[in-house]
Amino acid sequence: MRTAKYGVGVRKRVDAVIKLRAKKYKCPRCKKPAMARVASGIWRCKRCGLEIADGAYSMSTKEI
Ligand SMILES: [Zn+2]
Repeated sequence: MRTAKYGVGVRKRVDAVIKLRAKKYKCPRCKKPAMARVASGIWRCKRCGLEIADGAYSMSTKEI
């Protein structure tokens, strides 16, 4: 049974969030696109190991 709890607008926003979450973001220290979301609001650079707290689903830093 499909739930009527969420309307189509919310579903679209959730889709956008999921895409944002999967994206890699630029590291503010080494400038490489290696930031990965490790937990809600926690982002870590796979290259230099920098760990920062930022948006839960995307980083406020510029997309690559
Ligand atoms: Zn880095």
